[in-house]
Amino acid sequence: MVPLPSPWRADFPALAALAAEGQTYLDSAATAQKPQVVIDRLSQYYSQGAANVHRAQHLPGERATRAFEACRASAARWLKASDCGQIIFTRGATEALNLLAYGLQGQFQAGDELVISALEHHANLLPWQQLARRQGLTLHVLPLDEHGSIDLDQAARLIGPRTRLLAVSQLSNVLGRWQPLDALLALARAQGALTVVDGAQGAVHGRQDLQALGCDFYVCSSHKLYGPDGVGLLYGRHKALARLQHWQFGGEMVLHTGYVDAQFRPAPLGFEAGTPPIAGVIGLGAALDYLENLPGAAVAAHEAALHAQLLAGLSAIPGLRLLGNPEIALASFVIEGVHSADLAHLLTDQGIAVRNGHHCAMPLLDRLGISGALRVSLGLYNDGDDLARFFSALDQALGLLR
Ligand code: PLP
Repeated sequence: MVPLPSPWRADFPALAALAAEGQTYLDSAATAQKPQVVIDRLSQYYSQGAANVHRAQHLPGERATRAFEACRASAARWLKASDCGQIIFTRGATEALNLLAYGLQGQFQAGDELVISALEHHANLLPWQQLARRQGLTLHVLPLDEHGSIDLDQAARLIGPRTRLLAVSQLSNVLGRWQPLDALLALARAQGALTVVDGAQGAVHGRQDLQALGCDFYVCSSHKLYGPDGVGLLYGRHKALARLQHWQFGGEMVLHTGYVDAQFRPAPLGFEAGTPPIAGVIGLGAALDYLENLPGAAVAAHEAALHAQLLAGLSAIPGLRLLGNPEIALASFVIEGVHSADLAHLLTDQGIAVRNGHHCAMPLLDRLGISGALRVSLGLYNDGDDLARFFSALDQALGLLR
């Protein structure tokens, strides 16, 4: 096996700490480890003096507000938004999608159609499913082809004049395939439907250009992007943001309120009610600045080489069935005659941190005719030695199970 060292591994102190405990971390699609610059930024914020944002005139309050808003600028730059006003901080990708499902409900009438795909994470399924139930809407599910891509012929049939919204993932957290977003968004736009892209996995692997992509809304998650947990990003085109109803009510989102009525701020602050996750946002700013300064082409080449090595190793295992035809970042699989929970158990015993289960995509696994699968997922800090340890542990485990 080729060693494929990661030039960025030493930036992430947790990798050495985990190695000292005999752990090999291959679960970055669930959550990623954090670079030292993020840890330092969090520690600096708390040790210099925490303060609430957008409220106080005192020095710590002003400093916190400046650092918080600097992250909005980094996020706008990172996503190639047109300006900071297009970026709303949420408490995760899940909350961002729920914000949309509540914030947009005034846009729909009974009988209207929402369209998602068969590969959606529960975070991009349940908010729409529940919205459809609340409002008597029809939820269509776009089928997949044999590679795990949304089938464009079927999409052209199912996205029609009653479609009011299309919500799809950019990169599946189970199948590891880039979805044909340009074609899907064009189909939805031709019907005047709103478009939502779940970029929780896609944002991690390569730079985004949301103005070029042209979706109405895009959602991603700090903790997968090497930032702190508890923070998500919601990007919206200005025209689309103006269609959102306010959904959470409380401090700092109001322009004026009396006891019986209120006027609310527009986006972004009107959608950031209460004290936001200040430290997390500031830490995310550090993560985005770190990512921005990495050589993008070298990171992409490293991730592609690791992924190719992962697929080559898996393809040599008799009876192994890959889910879909993964292109990047991860591979999910089952092995004939072996229960994936037993395999996961034996891998865990050998210090291999991979994920087993339904990956928050139960309907997809149902369609694939399985109840669980193992997933190996890669971050930019993984290297060929991580894969060598995984494959050696897998051989050992299969030796016991078959
Ligand atoms: N969408 C996809 C594709 C995901 O993989 C995940 C998390 O695994 C989410 C949404 C939810 O993200 P968060 O953990 O920020 O709520």
